[in-house]
Amino acid sequence: MVLTPQLAASLLGGIHVLDGGMASELEHRGARIEGPLWSAHVLEDAPEKIVEVHRAYIEAGAQCIETASYQVSRMGYAEIGLPLERVDAALLRSVTLAREAASAFPDRQVLVAASLGPYGAALHNGAEYHGNYDCTYADLVAFHRERIAVLVGAKGADSPDLLAFETLPSLEEARAIGEAMREWPQAAAWFSFTCRDEAHVVHGELLRDGAKMAARFPQTVAMGVNCTLPGLIPFLIGELRAASDKPVIVYPNSGEGWDAVRRCWTGSCDPAEYGALAQGWFAAGAQIAGGCCRTRPEHVRLVARQWSVNGA
Ligand SMILES: [Zn+2]
Repeated sequence: MVLTPQLAASLLGGIHVLDGGMASELEHRGARIEGPLWSAHVLEDAPEKIVEVHRAYIEAGAQCIETASYQVSRMGYAEIGLPLERVDAALLRSVTLAREAASAFPDRQVLVAASLGPYGAALHNGAEYHGNYDCTYADLVAFHRERIAVLVGAKGADSPDLLAFETLPSLEEARAIGEAMREWPQAAAWFSFTCRDEAHVVHGELLRDGAKMAARFPQTVAMGVNCTLPGLIPFLIGELRAASDKPVIVYPNSGEGWDAVRRCWTGSCDPAEYGALAQGWFAAGAQIAGGCCRTRPEHVRLVARQWSVNGA
């Protein structure tokens, strides 16, 4: 069963290090992640590689890992002609693989968060980075509700500890998820937005307003920012802390940017620089830090070291 918000909140209190990017690490390990389902392909083709990545992050110090389910959705599968029953199976398999990896560390308590990307991630056209969707509010609610129902209904090793709604581009999408979650007030979740500057989510609204709204959902155990430039994070932590007293979770990108003209990544992805920045995130009031796109186990190892040296 997904943990209750009360229990999840008390367990999160002892957690400071989240894992890093899944897709980029799979790529480094030779998995093929191109194609419309991105790392979701690997759930079917090479599940052992996903377990390997989870283990690498736990070894690096992660106390909470996110499942490889970011882009798993009925809409995404239907678009490329895959049968719907494979979607639900893939969602549940992503949790089982994370549990399998965690079980290799019997002395450590590792929380498993089900990664749930926004509607735009299932469109596979980059729409999650602006949030202007060609769909109704009811479509958004239905999209999220389908996946929530599968995960909340899971039993045993298929069941995540909590739901991680992430890379949320807009307040409207966070509101839709709150509505989709209404049937399950006792299922813990965190809400994490993607931001374009020091104060605004990528769709343009104030992060502070989104966090105020999402913090009021009965399921919310933490508020966060992810898939955002690391240099913006201290400002955004200030916005989250001004909005609510929920624990703050941050997992920015490596610091590289995608150059669409030259079709390559630019900028730095130095784990040492990233680890040094994490000191500022903890100092600004983040309770949990990890990494999103293009971060690797070495980034997480240095975040964990920052916490153990300066965080306590
Ligand atoms: Zn990302």
